[in-house]
Amino acid sequence: MSLGELYFIINTEIHLTRLSDIRIGRITPTEQEIQILDKYLKLTEEEIEELEDMEIDKILIENDKKINKLISLIPKDLKAGQEVIKECPNCGAKLRISRASINGHLWIICEKEGVLICQ
Ligand SMILES: [Zn+2]
Repeated sequence: MSLGELYFIINTEIHLTRLSDIRIGRITPTEQEIQILDKYLKLTEEEIEELEDMEIDKILIENDKKINKLISLIPKDLKAGQEVIKECPNCGAKLRISRASINGHLWIICEKEGVLICQ
C-alpha cells in the first residue's frame, strides 16, 4: 500500500473527528479502525513525516470547523421525525437536517455532497 493510499483510507474509512478522538484517547477505535491504524503505526519515521506533510492535522482542524458549522444549524427543538431544510455551509446546496422517527438518529445530508453527519 502506498502512502497516498493509506492517507486516502485514513480519510475515508475513519471519520476524521473520530480519528482526532482516537488520537487523544477519548474513544476506543473499532476493530476495523485498529487495522487501519496498525498500518499507520508500522510506518517508519520517514514515512510518517511524509504522511504528516500531507497535512492531516490541517484537514482535521478544517473538518472540525465544518462539523461545528453544521452542528450550529441544527434547530434545538428538532424532534424525531422532523426535518428542516437549510443552506449547506460548505457548498451552498440544499441541506436536509432530520431526526429519524425510529431511532432518533440525526442526519445531515447535503444535496451535492451526500451524508455529512449521521449520529
Ligand atoms: Zn454541501
